[in-house]
Amino acid sequence: MASSLPEILEIIDTWSVRVVRFLYCDTSGIVRGKATAAGRLKSRVEGGIGLVKGMMAMNLLDQMQTATGFGATGEVRLVPDLSTFVVLPYAPQAAAILCDMQELDRTPWKLCPRNVLKRQIEQARRLGLSIEASFEPEFTLSVEEEGAIRPIDRSLCFSTDGMNRAARFANNFMDALERQGIPVEQYYPELGHGQHELSIGHAPALAAADHHIWYRETLRGVAFNEGLEASLTPKPFLDQPGNGCHLHLSLWDSASRQNLFAAPGGLSELGLHFVAGILEHLPALVALTCPSVNSYRRIQPGSWSAAYICWGYENREAAVRVPSTYWGQEEASTNLEIKCVDSSCNPYLALAAVMAAGLDGVRRKLAPPAPVDADPGSMTPDKLSEKAIRRLPLTLKDALEELKRSSLLQDVLGEELLNTFFLVKLSEVRAFAEKDIEFELVHHRNKF
Ligand code: GLU
Ligand code: MG
Repeated sequence: MASSLPEILEIIDTWSVRVVRFLYCDTSGIVRGKATAAGRLKSRVEGGIGLVKGMMAMNLLDQMQTATGFGATGEVRLVPDLSTFVVLPYAPQAAAILCDMQELDRTPWKLCPRNVLKRQIEQARRLGLSIEASFEPEFTLSVEEEGAIRPIDRSLCFSTDGMNRAARFANNFMDALERQGIPVEQYYPELGHGQHELSIGHAPALAAADHHIWYRETLRGVAFNEGLEASLTPKPFLDQPGNGCHLHLSLWDSASRQNLFAAPGGLSELGLHFVAGILEHLPALVALTCPSVNSYRRIQPGSWSAAYICWGYENREAAVRVPSTYWGQEEASTNLEIKCVDSSCNPYLALAAVMAAGLDGVRRKLAPPAPVDADPGSMTPDKLSEKAIRRLPLTLKDALEELKRSSLLQDVLGEELLNTFFLVKLSEVRAFAEKDIEFELVHHRNKF
């Protein structure tokens, strides 16, 4: 890992790096960028690389939404965060670096997603708090056969058959992550055909979102080199389980480094306030955590993707799960798992929004309803209303309407970004409504 330009230049020399990609994640969750010749890196670090503002108004079909006010005019600079520099293990003689977006006068651009997250980190810091987080993606490995794309296995959940068939890929993927400084935790074949899960360690909020970008890039890059297609798409095949990307987080006292969610036998009072904040804002939050048309095919009752607004200890049908802690590491491992998150999100915006909702609960000392210890999908409508359990929005369009009404998320994103996000995403709702399901699946599978 490098954090200064001289160190980076030395690494570039050692590894004969030819190009350095300057990357960002756009409004629609797509990772894009421009690369500089390695020999020009120094001047690009000082001056950034120009980006037309309209790129943040692009939807995932590359249709620019000029109604946002952004189009052919106006430019920002992609300015690299040197601490994120990595040599790419899956692309020859290439390195990459994650960028912030700055106006020409060097101030942060209002639409810069990393800056949105940095603002929330600062909000937490002012309360003496810091967030540790980890995105936990599931993905599907497929191959193209006779023009059709099919999962690589029909193996069962956690089965050794699935492990054997994906063993070479899993090893290469792990190696590639670890070479970029991302610690791997667990790996196993998941429930669906070709579906696998490999989790990574938690990190401070900004690094956690950065890691999810590297994860997505590395997964698809390593798979491509093996002749495989890897996709983190929420619902890549209609007849198979969806790919979640559960978000784990814990809240720490910045000074004493104590996990403030931890309490003997459960969740602390502060943790309960945080849960209550998330539940209150969840209908609008999902527009950012599950932001694609395809996302809502995944969030269905009975699929452990958590279709209902409730929380519970070890309840895999609740939107917020409190997982059991690790033996001997009770304090360190206490965390919340938000299940209604998927990899079509922009991780900076998703994490910023979840943090803001939780912190709102902390500030207002909100109390959540009682934890739910049963599957809400099996409850009668009367039972659901007695327990005040509501369904999450059923479509992206419904979630966007909730987002537009949320003053909290308006504050988190700022008016310009919220408006841009709304219009870009609404354009996707319209574009996919005009086509068949196969079009939707193909156009999500090949981007996430
Ligand atoms: N695949 C499920 C989802 O879409 C999650 C299964 C699990 O609990 O790991 O969220
Ligand atoms: Mg899983």
